[in-house]
Amino acid sequence: MNSNRAVFLDRDGTLNEDNVEYIKSMDEFRLFEFTPLALRIFKRLGFKCILITNQSAIGRDLTSREAIENIHERLKNTVEQSKGSLDGIYYCPHKPDEECDCRKPKTGNIEKAIADFHIDPAVSYFIGDSQKDIRTGAAVGCKTVLVRTGVNPPSLQIIQTWEPRPDFVAENILEAAQIIECLERSRKR
Ligand SMILES: [Mg+2]
Ligand SMILES: [Zn+2]
Repeated sequence: MNSNRAVFLDRDGTLNEDNVEYIKSMDEFRLFEFTPLALRIFKRLGFKCILITNQSAIGRDLTSREAIENIHERLKNTVEQSKGSLDGIYYCPHKPDEECDCRKPKTGNIEKAIADFHIDPAVSYFIGDSQKDIRTGAAVGCKTVLVRTGVNPPSLQIIQTWEPRPDFVAENILEAAQIIECLERSRKR
């Protein structure tokens, strides 16, 4: 079977404004204005877009699976209305001390997505705002892009000390999409 290419996406701080108190309901969810355009670019380039997100607010009893799934339903609709797509959504509901295998930087959810969608990680990307995202993507062999739209974006100096380091650093997801678009163009030449 032919394999697919994917852009794996973190949610909070990458697609939408993050909040130190967690995003617990629809009215706390604010999509960045440039996110729909970025997702449209990924779709046009032939990537599956797959959300890989930690939502420990569920395990902490600050919100419910239902509230999180409502947010995801609306997000998917918004993205589709602007001609992008969100092909898969995988969230970890656990708290850090539950030691599950799906909370990033653990790779349970991304490995499931890779299997479900027949993804070749070597030609895929992981985009996120935290070191956990970069570790998760790198662990399965994706190229990684760090975006600086999280709550406390790390300085370039700090990022230099990370192991592994992100392959690219972008201001936001739209710039990440433009970087990937350029790479795709030179790959096809
Ligand atoms: Mg994040
Ligand atoms: Zn988990």
